[in-house]
Amino acid sequence: MNSTSTHQEFMNSITAKNIGETEFLQAVHEVSDTLLPFIEENPKYKHNKILERITEPERIIIFRVPWVDDSGIVQINRGYRIEMNSAIGPYKGGLRFHPTVNLSILKFLAFEQVFKNSLTTLPMGGGKGGSDFDPKGKSDQEVMRFCQSFMTELFRHISHVTDVPAGDIGVGGREIGYLFGQYKRLKNEFTGVLTGKGIEYGGSLIRPEATGYGNVYFADEMLKTKNESFKDKIVLISGAGNVAQFAAEKVTELGGKVVTLSDSSGYIYDPDGIDSEKLEYVMYLKNIKRGRIREYAEKYDVKYVDGKRPWIEKGDIALPCATQNEINEEEAKTLVENGCICISEGANMPSTPEAINVFLKHKVLYGPGKAANAGGVAVSGLEMTQNAIKMNWSREEVDAKLKTIMTDIHKTCIKYGKESDGFVNYLKGANIGGFVKVADAMMAQGVV
Ligand code: NDP
Repeated sequence: MNSTSTHQEFMNSITAKNIGETEFLQAVHEVSDTLLPFIEENPKYKHNKILERITEPERIIIFRVPWVDDSGIVQINRGYRIEMNSAIGPYKGGLRFHPTVNLSILKFLAFEQVFKNSLTTLPMGGGKGGSDFDPKGKSDQEVMRFCQSFMTELFRHISHVTDVPAGDIGVGGREIGYLFGQYKRLKNEFTGVLTGKGIEYGGSLIRPEATGYGNVYFADEMLKTKNESFKDKIVLISGAGNVAQFAAEKVTELGGKVVTLSDSSGYIYDPDGIDSEKLEYVMYLKNIKRGRIREYAEKYDVKYVDGKRPWIEKGDIALPCATQNEINEEEAKTLVENGCICISEGANMPSTPEAINVFLKHKVLYGPGKAANAGGVAVSGLEMTQNAIKMNWSREEVDAKLKTIMTDIHKTCIKYGKESDGFVNYLKGANIGGFVKVADAMMAQGVV
């Protein structure tokens, strides 16, 4: 049987077990497509059914989250925690609060997290969680009451040695603070049960910056293989949240010009570049005022395109930093035709399978999220270490460790992804590189 029919057979069985879970099936398809030939060459993984086991969550927790809004009306949301794989460490992965959250999206994120965490070289298993709660437009008091209710159920399933959540879309410093406060109150213990904490109560320096900075460090490593750099490059960034903001900061620091940012309503195009002063305004707009990116266009008198994504603009480098499936085939073709040489994913699974095929076919530098955005969870791992040894490292120390981790992930991708003509398939490299350590640990621990 050839590997295409083996893949089809495998996907048929996964599809039958996870009906309607589009995003999860998309992530499994993408990973298994590159892994199956490797597994055929290494039959020990096949005999131990590692792929079948790694695609089945160890545990899924789903719970009711009731809370009372500012007008005294009872609201009900649904909470989730997917404990995907603990072969190499406690479950680790963010919480997403967004109205689109469902089981499929969290399972895809938890699945990706297993490979990503393994790539960091740190001892972290994979997990993900969240709720269909939408923090947008809610008062701080409403967000606090929701977070307290969410943690009132979640606390019994997590601990600093079992499962350590962090932030993701809609969960930033404010939410982590409220979640941590409630956990501490319920458990009567002060432990590093969450990462992304405030610096006053056990957080790590550079954690807020880590995903965005790490993505730029990874892209820079890819560019170096072509004797290129960020200097004088035009850079398209999507999103305007945590990852996008710090990616933009680092690109500017390295001499690139960021011309776009976006949110779920549309994008702005600033031909003069979003320099550090303008970025400060974006941070105020998104993190404090909690406004819309459209307001940037009004303030600086630049173009705002409603309901569209920035990939139709001309740029040398693209850093998708908003959400899944935000670059489709058509947009990928436009990017390549417009001369884009490097796509490095700050978001998780931002490129559709068809878009990825376009990038691979044209042999541009394509850094998949599980490698390129692993800096966030890597510094979360460093936050766990600092909590465990009751020490705080300096900004410089953490940044240097982050840089080393991103460079090492890049090396792993080259090790497993370099093809005979010299082209580096980073997707293949990241999937195999992330898989091996988890698979070997699973085999060593027996059928559990
Ligand atoms: P934030 O909530 O800080 O920002 C998310 C940004 O993406 C906002 O600008 C938001 O716009 C936009 N966005 C969200 N959903 C959609 C959508 N459906 N369509 C279009 N735009 C959307 O989240 P983060 O910056 O933390 O996360 C961004 C991405 O990075 C996610 O894919 C996340 O999984 C990934 N990631 C994050 C890590 C972290 O450390 N935070 C680590 C690794 C990956 P709006 O304001 O309109 O909602």
